[in-house]
Amino acid sequence: MPRLVLASRNRGKINELKALLAGLPWQVTSLLDYPEVPEVEEDGATFCENAIKKALVVAEKLKLWTLADDSGLEVDFLDGAPGVYSARFAGPHGDDRKNNEKLLNLLTGVPWDQRTARFRCVLAFASPDGQLWTTEGECAGLIALEPRGVGGFGYDPLFYLPERGLTMAELPEEEKNRISHRAVAMRKFRAYLEQDFN
Ligand code: IMP
Repeated sequence: MPRLVLASRNRGKINELKALLAGLPWQVTSLLDYPEVPEVEEDGATFCENAIKKALVVAEKLKLWTLADDSGLEVDFLDGAPGVYSARFAGPHGDDRKNNEKLLNLLTGVPWDQRTARFRCVLAFASPDGQLWTTEGECAGLIALEPRGVGGFGYDPLFYLPERGLTMAELPEEEKNRISHRAVAMRKFRAYLEQDFN
């Protein structure tokens, strides 16, 4: 079975990507299994640029098929912030609690109809010799007034889905993996693998 490396050390993201790749004929690993690979600096202006950079750097370094996910939250009232800075919105990389606190503070007093937001995900798939394929997905919602739920990761406790009356962190795992930005991007990626990849 060919090996596929997920170009991430974010456990929440890795768990979701592994669930979304289930059933495909790949042995899926992640950078958690390759501590020697240095952190790739995410200095692109877009999710797409960052996903491509991560996929190409890791594929080249490990000479393995690589799938990178660059994703984040865009809040309309904040002109699209935190965007590509989602992981480091409040400082050190990946402090979800501080990021959520900062987001809530910036939206203090902002009414429901101006709390619109979306999660976005770009997946970049790179071959060991540097060929590339990308796909993307979005999921729309509102920023809640307070965090709720313990599932998922990142901004999920604040991402309210009005049609479900729940935050992303309150959804059962399999439901998040049906409707999320990552799930939408992954459906397109799986379609590509099944139809065009050989
Ligand atoms: P990346 O490693 O630069 O792609 O960081 C993505 C960041 O965006 C994460 O650290 C989270 O803060 C946020 N994010 C991405 N996807 C999700 C999600 O599915 N739920 C909640 N937050 C997410």
